Amino acid sequence: MHPTSRLYRSSVVLALCAALVGAPAAAAEPAAPAPPVITADQVMPHLDALQQIADRNGGNRAHGTPGYRDSVAYVKAALDRAGFRTALHRFTRDGVTGYNLIADWPGGDPEHVVFAGAHLDSVPMGPGINDNGSGSAALLATALQVSKAGLTPDRHLRFAWWGAEEGGLVGSRAYVKDLSAADRERIDVYLNVDMAGTTREKQLWLVVDDDPAATAAFKDWFAARDLPTFDIGIGGSDHVSFDEAGIPVGGFATGVDDCIHEACDRVENVNPRTETLSTNALINAVWQLAARH
Ligand code: ZN
Repeated sequence: MHPTSRLYRSSVVLALCAALVGAPAAAAEPAAPAPPVITADQVMPHLDALQQIADRNGGNRAHGTPGYRDSVAYVKAALDRAGFRTALHRFTRDGVTGYNLIADWPGGDPEHVVFAGAHLDSVPMGPGINDNGSGSAALLATALQVSKAGLTPDRHLRFAWWGAEEGGLVGSRAYVKDLSAADRERIDVYLNVDMAGTTREKQLWLVVDDDPAATAAFKDWFAARDLPTFDIGIGGSDHVSFDEAGIPVGGFATGVDDCIHEACDRVENVNPRTETLSTNALINAVWQLAARH
């Protein structure tokens, strides 16, 4: 089913673009607003908060633990204060209830959803700050910028923080499975961020290569800053759950470090500069994709 649906979407988009190109110049549309640019102090405090949550809950934020519960509460409270409509989506893993946190920004065309997500759980062995507090924090900082800007997107914006990714994409798969066919069809693109702040010397942004507009939004942004990228196709994180349902995907990772799934994946295992660049790349992509072409 999904190749057909993609071809259908592509041909519809091409037809629309052709119609626009062929149309005489009408009254100029207002230019899409330029995306904001954040500094490290607008994203790193979220990582400090997740580290503190792990520190006071036995050193981790894994599925089914108080550390995960407190992580969800932290992100949800920030989103609620910023005017998002938040909801918890429940699933079961190993006999334990798991939670995805879903946040909708009011407005935008509900028939065309731009959806960005990151997994919020760690493994039991460590606090999971690069994997994936970093993606969770980049996503939260992006959502808060949407609120701060009072963005009025053409397409509807939804954000999600997934549970039990480390158990095998469990939360995101459960979410996609629970969507109706019509709701899946409404998602134009899903963007994923997993491990956004690697401390490795040779930094490389691994870009998911699927949805052409999403891929270009990330690659062009990095290229304009002389930051190296590498196409990774699809695989490895929660965007797989959406791809399996025929939904176009995009996103990026900054790759595996020596502390992955270890107790040393602490806030010191995140490079603030890389984390900030990753967040700004995500903000730019969300801004671009939120404006219909
Ligand atoms: Zn991860």
